[in-house]
Amino acid sequence: MRIAVVGAGLGGVAAAVGLHRQGHEVTLFERGAELREKGTGIVVMPNGLRALDDLGLAEDVRRRVMHATSGGLRDRHGRPLLIADLAQVEQGIGTPAMIDRAELHRALRAPLPPDLVRTATPVERLQPDPTGVTVISDGAPVARADAVIAADGSGSRLRAQLFPGHPGLRRTGRMDLRGMLPRPPGLAPDLLLSQLVDRRNGAMFGLFPVGEDRLYWFTDSLLHGPPPGAEEARREMLSLMADWHPLVTALIGATPPEDIYVDPIARLAEPLPSFAVDRIALLGDAAHAMSPDLGQGSSQAFEDAAVLTRHLSGAGPADAVERLLRYDAERRPRANRMMLGAARQSRLTSRTGISAWLRDLSLRAVPSRLATRQIATLWHV
Ligand SMILES: Cc1cc2nc3c(=O)[nH]c(=O)nc-3n(C[C@H](O)[C@H](O)[C@H](O)COP(=O)(O)OP(=O)(O)OC[C@H]3O[C@@H](n4cnc5c(N)ncnc54)[C@H](O)[C@@H]3O)c2cc1C
Repeated sequence: MRIAVVGAGLGGVAAAVGLHRQGHEVTLFERGAELREKGTGIVVMPNGLRALDDLGLAEDVRRRVMHATSGGLRDRHGRPLLIADLAQVEQGIGTPAMIDRAELHRALRAPLPPDLVRTATPVERLQPDPTGVTVISDGAPVARADAVIAADGSGSRLRAQLFPGHPGLRRTGRMDLRGMLPRPPGLAPDLLLSQLVDRRNGAMFGLFPVGEDRLYWFTDSLLHGPPPGAEEARREMLSLMADWHPLVTALIGATPPEDIYVDPIARLAEPLPSFAVDRIALLGDAAHAMSPDLGQGSSQAFEDAAVLTRHLSGAGPADAVERLLRYDAERRPRANRMMLGAARQSRLTSRTGISAWLRDLSLRAVPSRLATRQIATLWHV
C-alpha cells in the first residue's frame, strides 16, 4: 500500500519505520527543514518500551532503562510522602527509560531510508476520494496515497480538517519549565526519581538521571498570562522554590540557558470521536494530546505505531478503511483513558491548601509495600 505519514515527530517516525518494514510504500512528510527533535530528556514507560519491542526499535532505548532503588513523591524539603521500592517494581514490570529526546529521535529514525523522507513539506490539507487520498502542500498535490497517517502533533492541522467541530487543544493554566545539565560529582541519590510538591502553591519539581553523567529536571507550576521566556521563567522558578530543598535551586540555577525549555501545558479539550476517518488515521499527540503528568505521551504514540503496523500488516488498498477502523477500536479507549488519567494525576499533584494537606497526610500513612504497588500500577498501564 502507498502510505503517507504526516509529521516526523517521535510517533510519526516510529509508525513510518514499522510500516516500511511491513513492506508498505511509505513517504514521511515533515514541515521542518530537517528531521530532528530537541529539548531535554523524555521518559519512555515500560508499556512504551514494549511497543518499541514490537516495532523492533527498542534495542538502543532499553540501554537507558533506569535502575534505581527507590523513588516517589516528596514534600518541598525532600521529605518522603510516598516512596516505592523501585528495585521490586523493576523485577515485576520493568522500569522506564530516561533518554535525551534528540538521541531517542535519532535511534528511531536510523532504520528509515532517507529517500522516504520529504522535509520542508508542510502538509496543508488532505483531499480524500473513493479510491485514495491526495496530499496537498503549498496549494499543490505532493502525493497520492491509499492511506494517510496524520501524526502532526498536538496542534494538528489535519485533526482540525477531519473534525471541524472539535474544540482542539486547551491550555491547562500550568507551565512546564525543564532543563538538562551535567550530573554534579557527589550528588546524593535521595532525590533522583523523585517529584517534590509544594502544597502552598501546587508547584512541582522532578529529577531524573539521564545515563551516568547527566540530569533532567522539570517543574510544573501555575502559568499567569502568556508563557515567559526561558530566563524569566527560570528567575520566577528560583524565587518560587527559594525555600525548597537546596538542590532544587542549585540545579535550576546551574543549567545552561540553551538547555532550558518553557512550555505552556495543553491537552485535547475533549476526546476525539474516532482516530480513523475513511483512509485517514490520527496518531500520537494529534489523536490524544495529554498533559505530561503520567509521562505517557510518547509511550502512547509508540503503542499507536505498533498497533497500526500490526493492523496494516499484509493489507492492500482495498483493506485500508476496515484496518484503520480496527486500529481505532483497539487504541482509542486506552489512549483516551490515559488522557483522563493524566488530568487526574495533575489535579492530585497540584492540589493546594487543606486538600493538599490531606493528600500529604494520607500519602505518608501508606505503607511502603502499598506505595510500591501504587507506582507499579501507574507504570503498568
Ligand atoms: C513539557 C512536556 C514534557 C513531556 N514529557 C514527556 C515524557 O517525559 N514522556 C513522554 O512520553 N512524553 C512526554 N511529553 C509528551 C511527548 O513529548 C509527546 O507526546 C510526543 O512527543 C508526541 O509525539 P508526536 O509524534 O505525536 O508529535 P510531535 O512530536 O509534536 O511531532 C509532530 C511533527 O509533525 C510536524 N508537523 C506538524 N504539522 C505538520 C504539517 N502540517 N505538515 C508536516 N509536518 C507537520 C512537526 O514539525 C513535528 O515534527 C511531554 C510533553 C511536554 C509538552
